[in-house]
Amino acid sequence: EQMQNQMPTYKGLENFKIVEKMGDGAFSNVYHAVDQTTNKKVAVKVVRKFELNASQVLVIHLPSDGARQDGDKHLNPKFKKKPRVTERANILKEVQIMRGTNHPSIVRLISFSESEEHYFLVLELMEGGELFHQIVKLTYFSENLSRHVILQVAQGIRYLHEERGVVHRDIKPENLLFERIPITPSKVPVRRPYDEEKEDEGEFIPGVGGGGIGRVKIADFGLSKVVWNEETMTPCGTVGYTAPEIVKDERYSKSVDMWALGCVLYTLLCGFPPFYDESINVLTEKVARGYYTFLSPWWDDISGTAKDLIQHLLCVDPAQRYTIDEFLAHPWCSAAPAPPPPPT
Ligand code: ADP
Ligand code: MG
Repeated sequence: EQMQNQMPTYKGLENFKIVEKMGDGAFSNVYHAVDQTTNKKVAVKVVRKFELNASQVLVIHLPSDGARQDGDKHLNPKFKKKPRVTERANILKEVQIMRGTNHPSIVRLISFSESEEHYFLVLELMEGGELFHQIVKLTYFSENLSRHVILQVAQGIRYLHEERGVVHRDIKPENLLFERIPITPSKVPVRRPYDEEKEDEGEFIPGVGGGGIGRVKIADFGLSKVVWNEETMTPCGTVGYTAPEIVKDERYSKSVDMWALGCVLYTLLCGFPPFYDESINVLTEKVARGYYTFLSPWWDDISGTAKDLIQHLLCVDPAQRYTIDEFLAHPWCSAAPAPPPPPT
């Protein structure tokens, strides 16, 4: 990674001009780039094959060469080969799953290549960035705008679950991307943010309108998994020899995306997630029990239908939780957008 005009260049990525950094994770950087052979704008997800910082490696990924002893927290990197952080098989799985998808709500993989040090996933560019940032910017979405966004995500999940036998397993606002930069917040008909000081002044105005925020797509298949054999539409592996806990796991594996969808919908509607605590232990306990509330005053004006839908998603028993088809059949999903307000 050589810095040039503040943008890195990568051996093996010479055909692309890196324009700007769009996101980064622990092992990957995503750039807005131009494919210089076609002059098309793309996104390139660059995944490092090896970790560069040995101290990080010890925390995140322990070497599997057996050399490490318990309590040996200070491995000298000089004596070790750089441990592989990103398993080749995982990247290839991400690529293979993305290659097999073709849906307007799924980010498209254009090509895949690798060099000695990196993997490169060339992706359809999602210029509007993360849903996460739009929630932060707009505080929260009106019910109609939330529906406009969540239905697109749900169509993508339906395609993955029902047509591809794929569970995404990492649905969250950071992995839901807008195709274009949404229209300016002032023009988006969202409810005004709740302001405690102005509570008595009637500043908490229910939202109207919807749409106008464009296309949303599901990205990041790094944790995704195929759970059904596409040809036979049976669980993967030979059923006759599969242990009951695996069969059980497979049966409910899709429901993890439905829980996540419930968390995203909750967050869209009020601007904060259903489960939160500063202590990871308390948070884990809350999630395990499915303990959340429709906190007043933020939820006071949100429809009972929306709350009913969320209750069927944030439901601890996966057997009781809505499937994607039950989600799409719920009355909230087909509710007509409210008419615009009369001119004043
Ligand atoms: P990670 O596994 O590191 O989470 P992601 O695939 O989620 O990798 O990419 C990290 C971030 O990069 C995303 O949250 C998003 O902000 C940005 N990003 C990913 N793919 C694209 C894309 N196709 N277009 C624009 N930005 C993207
Ligand atoms: Mg991600």
